[in-house]
Amino acid sequence: MTRVTLIPGDGIGPEVAFAAKEVVDATGVKIEWDIVNAGADTYKKTGSFIPKTLLESISKNRVVLKGPITTPIGKGFKSINVTLRQKFDTYANIRPLKSMPGTKGRFDNVDLVVFRENTEGLYAGIEHKINEDVTEAIKVITKKGSIRIVEEAFKYAKEQNRKKVTAVHKANIMKITDGLFLDCAKSVAKKYPDIEYEEKIVDNMCMQLVMYPEKYDILVMPNLYGDILSDLASGLVGGLGLVPGANIGSDIGIFEAVHGSAPDIAGKSLANPIACIMSSAMMLDYIDEKQAANRIRKAVWTVLEEGKWKTKDLGGNATTEEITNAICKKP
Ligand code: ATP
Repeated sequence: MTRVTLIPGDGIGPEVAFAAKEVVDATGVKIEWDIVNAGADTYKKTGSFIPKTLLESISKNRVVLKGPITTPIGKGFKSINVTLRQKFDTYANIRPLKSMPGTKGRFDNVDLVVFRENTEGLYAGIEHKINEDVTEAIKVITKKGSIRIVEEAFKYAKEQNRKKVTAVHKANIMKITDGLFLDCAKSVAKKYPDIEYEEKIVDNMCMQLVMYPEKYDILVMPNLYGDILSDLASGLVGGLGLVPGANIGSDIGIFEAVHGSAPDIAGKSLANPIACIMSSAMMLDYIDEKQAANRIRKAVWTVLEEGKWKTKDLGGNATTEEITNAICKKP
């Protein structure tokens, strides 16, 4: 039996995280869930955003299914998500973006995977105030950080029989930092002669994705570009309610949807649980329960294709529970 830490999170977090738990349990895979919360709600109750019990649980279990967590904006708190990524060194943020039936995506042929460097770049958390009128943030790009994320992208491309890796950068302006990222990407690409390698400047990449998403396959990039491009690409496939993610380190996996805590719809049973459910399928792949993972993906696909149960973001009226039940019931 695998022990998994389940973090319900804030806002719609508990609704989508427990929906995903229900779907995983319905596959029959034996998981012992260690439910420990973090975030704004936990802070109100315990005075701590990330309780010690959570850090202990993650350190022990090394597999986590996580709902979105809210960090108060601009109050001097370091982002809880960034803290967890840095503490457990989950350096690879992997976000598959694939067109699915019955959604509001503008395209039906998108099949991208974004590999976002997850621990450094402009999210290194090094910011300071020079004086009241001048502030600075430091962008950190290292050889180690760049090589390991690009390696992860090529390794995945090879295993999944994908054809092309595109490195996304702004090295024409940030010559030293993004220049180092590109040098590292080039050196890793040489080891994979069977996989096409290309480079795109991030602003051009945005236009390319909106016009010709079908031309792209695996995208690898520093932290901030990955955050922005994955939201952009989620718009191409029907919105944030559908896009899953994994934060992978050398011996740890934290699985969570790309979306945030969506306070505007929290507690109303309007949240689309599919992004979190698809994240739980990535978690099952990670713990080698591939059959159950594929079963979940197929069930989600069938429910969307049938179109009977759709949450509001997909143009329907179904509640979070209704779509979750429909997914659980599929063989
Ligand atoms: P963060 O900064 O934490 O990533 P955010 O400010 O980008 O969060 P989200 O919480 O991701 O914002 O929400 C953006 C929009 O998408 C909101 O209008 C929200 O209602 C919608 N949204 C996000 N997730 C879902 C979901 N699972 N189901 C339906 N709508 C969602």
